[in-house]
Formats: sequence, structure tokens, C-alpha cells
Amino acid sequence: MKNSEFPLIFEKSRRGRKAANLPECDVPYTSPEELIGAEHLRSRLPLPEVSELDVVRHFTHLSQRNYAIDLGLYPLGSCTMKYNPKVNEKAASIPGFASLHPLQPEETAQGALALMYDLQKMLAEISGFDATTLQPSAGAHGELCAMMMVKAYHASRGEAHRNVVVIPDAAHGTNPASAARCGFKVKGVISNSKGCTDLDSLQKALAGGNIAAFMLTNPNTVGLFESEIEKICEMVHEAGGLVYCDGANMNAMLGLTRPGDMGFDVMHFNLHKTFSTPHGGGGPGCGAVSVKACLEPFLPVPTIEKVTAKIGEEESEATYRFIQNRPQSIGRIHSFYGAFLIAVRAYTYIRSLGAKGIRGVGENAVLNANYVRARLADHYEVAYGNRTCMHEVVLSAAKLKQLHGVRALDISKRLMDYGYHPPTNYFPLIVPEALMIEPTETESKQTLDEFIEVMIKISQEAVETPDLLTTAPHVTLVSRLDETAAVKNLDLRYEPLFENNNPI
Ligand SMILES: *Cc1c(COP(=O)(O)O)cnc(C)c1O
Repeated sequence: MKNSEFPLIFEKSRRGRKAANLPECDVPYTSPEELIGAEHLRSRLPLPEVSELDVVRHFTHLSQRNYAIDLGLYPLGSCTMKYNPKVNEKAASIPGFASLHPLQPEETAQGALALMYDLQKMLAEISGFDATTLQPSAGAHGELCAMMMVKAYHASRGEAHRNVVVIPDAAHGTNPASAARCGFKVKGVISNSKGCTDLDSLQKALAGGNIAAFMLTNPNTVGLFESEIEKICEMVHEAGGLVYCDGANMNAMLGLTRPGDMGFDVMHFNLHKTFSTPHGGGGPGCGAVSVKACLEPFLPVPTIEKVTAKIGEEESEATYRFIQNRPQSIGRIHSFYGAFLIAVRAYTYIRSLGAKGIRGVGENAVLNANYVRARLADHYEVAYGNRTCMHEVVLSAAKLKQLHGVRALDISKRLMDYGYHPPTNYFPLIVPEALMIEPTETESKQTLDEFIEVMIKISQEAVETPDLLTTAPHVTLVSRLDETAAVKNLDLRYEPLFENNNPI
């Protein structure tokens, strides 16, 4: 779209126009230099000069060009784009939380420390582990944090030679990246014909005496529960390694089963997936990590301690403090204590659902995905033989491609014409022409039925009018992009034209 059709904020700029009136400066001064120092003053500050109304319209227009869970179904597999309840936002905006300063003395932030302490306990309870850190700011950061702990653990036992991390071929790309970033060698394991870890391949990978860890996603990235998980954990432990659970798919198990009970030693959560905090466009997030007792000494600092004293028979009111002095800790991995207001949102979500509600999340996540699977099974190929899935279902467009030249990407683009965000494409890598659909538990049957009808219609179009798909989308401002170039040469900056330091 040309700028004239959609004037950007710089084209709206007119000299002298303002969106705010600042009060008169009540500090006596003779020049701006005197007030803030000449080194901080810029001669060229190319900001648009616009009214408040211009600003509001600009950002409202931009928001309308975007897609969000608050607009419609967002079936992006693995990402768990579920609804973010507004009560979370309300809690996060309580001034006592929102206005806290990270350098505030801890005796004046006891409520915040208590909330973090309790959230850590709740996550440990939900997942079957002994201790939790909220510091990592994303799932991938949690993986890195965990791999650092795994390394420190082996070193502390005089087994620093353990330098191999084993990862299945279906894994998310962040798994091998996190392991490699910690200096581990990555060894692959193949999936079997049922879409689960192949035990013979695993046995071979575990040989050699230098295994540090096995990283496994459960339910795995094909949306299937690793039915031999206990045996897998046993095999890895026997080889002297630890078992890491990539917990991105935890919503499928909430309240139903716990990775800690299956034999995992450590896992990360994506609070923005499982616990309904916003997926923040790269903004602050939380990839909390829970560990079994054997890894607890290595948790990043600071940790939070709850202190109570006995006064006669009674316990005193609890006080909370940060503990910095932990000699075996891997150190700090985030400034202060992570993204605190994200913790407030996740805490609110868990408390507002309660134990029963949490279980309902797991049940409905699985029910919704299986409903979509069952209704689409006659129209699309379901990866790995159409067995009961967990919270997401992976379809394959391989046959459609072969017969009609229609790829997974074309189906996704066509979905945009019908007003839907596309599902995840081409992941996991082991399914050709993959379309990974995760409806999430927050969608109603009516919403799913509408989506399913559109998917069925698209499957018919693929046969009858494939061009409609290969040239889609037809309703968006821009149609097909050079997606590789868009990733490699990302250009998010708009450069306005200037004359005499003013936008023209
Ligand atoms: C999302 C995801 C990750 C990475 O989590 P981020 O929070 O995006 O860093 C890792 N593994 C799996 C399976 C995921 O779906």
C-alpha cells in the first residue's frame, strides 16, 4: 500500500502541532544547556509534530492491520495462543505491583516477594518438582538456564566430561541451540513410526559414557504423548544423564499428570503459553524453570526464602527475602528478578482457576484438538495415523501437493482470506508439508465448527480451484512476501524525509 493511502505519522506532521501541553518549568534557568547539559541536547530530533487525535488514529489504524487472539481464532500450533483473561491485566495494574521499583528495599516489597514465592511453589506443585526459578525471560532462556545447571551439576560430581546432549529430530530448534550455546555436543534421535522417540535410536545415542542430558518435549511436537516416557527416563538415568522436559506443551497435561512424576529432572514453562500471559512481541516474558532437589543448589541467584519463627505455639507472620549467597549457583541470568508483572498475571490465572479449573484447562485443550482432528480426518491427512492426540493436531498437505500442487503454505494463506490466523507451517520438520493446529482450550465448539467448515471448504478448493489457494491471500494489504528476505533483511524503520530538520 502506498503511503498516500495510509498516511504514516510523519506525513501527518505539521510544524508546531502538539499532543501534550507541558506545565511551565518551575526551575529557574537561563538556557536548556544549563538545565540538562549541552552533551544531552540534540540539534536534530526528527519527531513528528502531531495532535493527540492524530496519534490515537495512527495507532488504532495500525492495530486494525494486525491480527490478535482478541479478534479471532489463532490456531498457531506449539505456541498456545490462548485467550489472556482481562483479570490478569487488572491484577498487573494494581499500583502496589505496577509502581514497584526494582531497587526498593525488600522489606517494603514483601507482597511482591510473597507472590513470586507462592507462584514458584504452585508451578513446582503443578509439575511435580521441588523448586522453581522465575528468572528466565522466555522458554528458550529457560532451556539455556537449565543446560547451565546441568553442566554445573555434572561438574560438581567430578563428571565434567559429560558433554553430549541428546535431542529428538522432532524438537523445537531452540533445544539444540540452547545445548550448543552451553558448549554441549548435540546428538540426534529419530522418531518411530508412531511419532514418538525411537528407543533403539535412543539407546545408541546414550552409549559412550559422556551423556549430560536428554531434552524431550512431552507431549511431543507432533502433539502426541510419549507413551514410553518412564522407560525413556530410566534409560537416560542409567546412562548417567539428566532428563529435560521442554514444557511448551504443558497445557495438555495441566492437572492431569506431572513431568516430575514421569522421571524428568528439570523442565521449563512458557508462562505465555500455558499460563495465559501475553505473547509480547519480543517483550518481557517468563520461561520459569522447575527442578528436582538434585539441581536446586545450582538455581540462579537470587532465590527467595520464606522465614517464619515460632512464637510459643504460633508461627510468626512470614517474611520473605532474596538469597544471594549460594556458592553452587550458576549466577544471575536476568536483571533483578525477571519479568515481575508477568509473574503477577500467571499467579492471577492460576488462583482464579483453582485446582479444578487448572485440570479443566488440560481436559479441554485435549478435547478441542481431538474434535478438530476427528472432524478434519476425512479431508486432510493426519500425521502418524490419526491416533488420539493431545492439545494439538498435525496435518500434512503432502498428498495435496503431489496431486494438485497445493502446499501447506497455500492452505495457510487461503485461511487468511477467511479471516483466520494460519496454523504453524513446516514444523515439526519430520512431517512433510506440516500444518500444526492448536485450537487451545479457550475456544468454544461454535468457533471450532466455523473454523472446521472453512478448512473443509479449503480442502475442496484445493481440488477444484487450486489457483485460488496458490495466489492467496486476496484480502490483505500485501499478498505474498519474500519471506526469506523479510527475515534476513528485516526493516522495521520508517525513514521520513526532512527539510531543515523538520519532517516534510
Ligand atoms: C515455544 C517453544 C519453545 C521456545 O519458547 P519461547 O518462549 O518462544 O522462547 C521451545 N520449545 C517448544 C516446543 C516451543 O513450542
